[in-house]
Amino acid sequence: MRRDVKPVASRLKPIVQSPTVRLGALVNEMKRRGEDVISFSVGEPDFSTPQHIVDAAKKALDEGWTKYVSSMGIPGLREAIAEKMKRENGVPCDKDGIIVAPTKHALYIALTGLVDPGDEVLFPDPGWVSYAPMVHLAGGRPVPVRATEETKYEPAPEAVAEAITPNTKAIVINSPSNPAGSVYSKETIKGLCDLVTDRDLFLISDEIYEKILYEGAHYSPASFDGMFDRTVTVHGFSKTYAMTGWRLGWLCAEKSLVKQLVKVQEHTITCAPAFVQIAGVAALKGPPSAVAAMVDEFRARREIMAGEFRTIPGFHVFRPAGAFYFFPRYDFELPSDEFAERLLTEARVAVTPGSAFGAAGENHLRFSYACSREDIRKGMARVRAFVEKLRRKEGQ
Ligand code: PMP
Ligand code: GLU
Repeated sequence: MRRDVKPVASRLKPIVQSPTVRLGALVNEMKRRGEDVISFSVGEPDFSTPQHIVDAAKKALDEGWTKYVSSMGIPGLREAIAEKMKRENGVPCDKDGIIVAPTKHALYIALTGLVDPGDEVLFPDPGWVSYAPMVHLAGGRPVPVRATEETKYEPAPEAVAEAITPNTKAIVINSPSNPAGSVYSKETIKGLCDLVTDRDLFLISDEIYEKILYEGAHYSPASFDGMFDRTVTVHGFSKTYAMTGWRLGWLCAEKSLVKQLVKVQEHTITCAPAFVQIAGVAALKGPPSAVAAMVDEFRARREIMAGEFRTIPGFHVFRPAGAFYFFPRYDFELPSDEFAERLLTEARVAVTPGSAFGAAGENHLRFSYACSREDIRKGMARVRAFVEKLRRKEGQ
């Protein structure tokens, strides 16, 4: 073998490093060096994990929850999840239809477990940065479907229908969405479910932002008629409970499918850490006020950031109904990666370039407002000053 050729599998070649994870790490490194940078980049709540959840984990460690546990997850947590899915989401699952895994891994389990080489998987464009890479890793072909401003950043069933071919295996959807914060209407979800049943497909519904909802209602497609057997619902603790570093989430599906999917878990990570799962039980059974307080704060920050955008010409701002991102389209003659790069180096503000979320995300920037009110005001003042400078140059 030639030494300059790295023995990397062809599956990895079309994949780049996660732009959100990479930018988040870069900003942390800059802050560690004492640099004055304001981060609107990674989607990570700035709150501490609520104390009752931390206490439950400490107690679990003291009690010896330090061993391997069931690959599907400890029964107590799966029961609590099944109860939540039934009561809040109308999804008829029971504890044997659940696999506890880090949210990202739950998605990976679903895709690896469903996709054959050459299968096509549809997902929204713009959409979260890891859908296409995971489809590649599973050996499938990612097929982005436009979900832009014209359709309120929802994948319109007509656009999805046009993208379906005999090779289509599954559709991934995500409401409330990353990066636009759109909350799909009931009609959109119903239309997508009809396509899934009519065309004999699977649906993977990423509902991680369910609780970060300001307007409208959340609908779980697995609760719609005939959909439970065709849907893998993926969810997690990271956003709802400010638990990003705990790496805990789940998937929920029909039992016989889960029995197959769990093989991926057993041959990769075995199980999620036991004491973290005990903390997950405390999160689900804890006071809803802990979550409501964080969502209220996100709502207030959304208003502050919306107000700031109104003072910056050149941005077309879609009002997010959920999640904690703004995804404005802009008029400037600048590719989004260059725009983001210049904001970081010249204005000391980190944002994620829209192109990271797919071709249709070009000419957009993602601003995460999972940071303090003070940072929002300070960071947006820097953006305003940068944009004024840019406009003066463009006007020359
Ligand atoms: N889905 C979406 C839409 C996300 O934004 C993220 C990022 N947190 C994930 C899944 C993965 O979540 P986790 O960090 O809990 O693995
Ligand atoms: N999902 C978050 C984001 O979009 C966290 C990073 C990641 O997992 O992509 O910023």
